[in-house]
Amino acid sequence: MTSLDPRAPLVLDTRELGRRPGSQREVTRSAPAPADLGIEVLSVPEGSPVELDLRLEAVMEGVLVTGTARAVVEGECTRCLEPIRDEIEVTFQELFVYDDTRHGARDDSDEDDETSRLEDDLLDLEPLLRDAVVLALPFQPLCQPDCPGLCPECGARLADDPDHGHQAAVDPRWAALAELKEDLGPS
Ligand SMILES: [Zn+2]
Ligand SMILES: [Zn+2]
Repeated sequence: MTSLDPRAPLVLDTRELGRRPGSQREVTRSAPAPADLGIEVLSVPEGSPVELDLRLEAVMEGVLVTGTARAVVEGECTRCLEPIRDEIEVTFQELFVYDDTRHGARDDSDEDDETSRLEDDLLDLEPLLRDAVVLALPFQPLCQPDCPGLCPECGARLADDPDHGHQAAVDPRWAALAELKEDLGPS
């Protein structure tokens, strides 16, 4: 495992808290979005600012992180493919446990647990941010809640042209045939 870089924008140093339960620190920072923050059809553009408001609070077992992140997301409507640009705000909370026992006599079966751990009193916010953003995004983003999508015949965007239809565009020869059929009436 590689160690965390204390200068990385999504890595936070908790040493100031002195491991005294109850001590806390507010952190406000803007971090460039890591790659692939979001889902395939909607995500925070890499490098665009993620505004973070965080509270770090020392508790007995570790450091509790509570925070809010705001960012712009871009993608496209899953019905009509129109570009979407929106803002999201997500909240998250996670306990990062002190890593004192990490190199101790723990047996290997603990290695795959889901507990977030501090590493040398540093914590990595990225997995937490990633989960919160993915959870907040709709699986099928739409440009508007009732987007009618695209015309199955010509691909026109129906939201731009609500009265869209193809009756008038039918080949005149077929139209003549249709009229003839009507004249004949039901057989
Ligand atoms: Zn749409
Ligand atoms: Zn059409």
